[in-house]
Amino acid sequence: MARTAPWHVTNDPVYHNNNACDAGTRLLTKATLGTGGKRLCATCDVLNRADSAAVTGGAERFGRFRRGV
Ligand SMILES: [Zn+2]
Repeated sequence: MARTAPWHVTNDPVYHNNNACDAGTRLLTKATLGTGGKRLCATCDVLNRADSAAVTGGAERFGRFRRGV
């Protein structure tokens, strides 16, 4: 899995930016690049956190802190 440039589709309330997101990759054929001003897909968010935790070993705690605000 990997974080990528963001994409979204018109009738989806969220954008995606991780190519391991099943819901997101299913939309890729009709997707537009960019966030569309939407919020991040929850699945992509989790995948991104897993990615950065694997790289830095400390990002998961930071993510929880930010989510709790
Ligand atoms: Zn997603």
